[in-house]
Amino acid sequence: MLNIVIFGAPGSGKGTQSDKIIEEYGVAHISTGDVLREEIKKGTELGKLAASYIDEGNFIPDSLMIQILAAVLDALGKDIKGVIFDGFPRTIPQALALDEMLADRDEEISTVIGLEVDDAELIHRIVLRGRTSGRADDNEHTARHRLENYHHMTQPLKKYYIDEGKYVSIPGVGDINEIFSHIKKVIDAVK
Ligand code: AMP
Repeated sequence: MLNIVIFGAPGSGKGTQSDKIIEEYGVAHISTGDVLREEIKKGTELGKLAASYIDEGNFIPDSLMIQILAAVLDALGKDIKGVIFDGFPRTIPQALALDEMLADRDEEISTVIGLEVDDAELIHRIVLRGRTSGRADDNEHTARHRLENYHHMTQPLKKYYIDEGKYVSIPGVGDINEIFSHIKKVIDAVK
């Protein structure tokens, strides 16, 4: 199975490139942000709890996030070509849990695609997205906090995956299709 982690800061283009990967390779998509926003929309208890973190630009606690991921992964069943993990893992404990979950299924991560975009461009993109996304967390103040969390808690994962020999860095600026052609080369080399 093709198990791809798409990795990068908020606004780095993970969602956009995930859509293209899904179209090209027919893999299933797990976006933890989308899963949580769906719960918020449905007004569930989980959604209410999630909103209290998301709207402030904070991470959902690891133990809860790992449980949610495991449930979503189980629900996909075995009859899939692979999975693209978008927005998970975001912390070292989440990365360890994902490795374990996949190992339990005799699977492993095929590659980690890291989209590299500088902070000024990220803020610009998030603020722009906020004009149409309707997301409470797509504003400059919350975006800055989300980026701090990213640098503090998520960026250490880069070293984790470099040490595992899985991390491939892709420049995340410029033409969307050109970025995707880089990604395609990486995936074709591991599939
Ligand atoms: P995203 O759509 O990936 O930018 O996620 C939106 C928000 O959902 C994040 O800013 C976090 O508050 C929350 N979230 C999504 N995925 C995770 C995760 N793996 N761990 C913790 N919080 C998460």
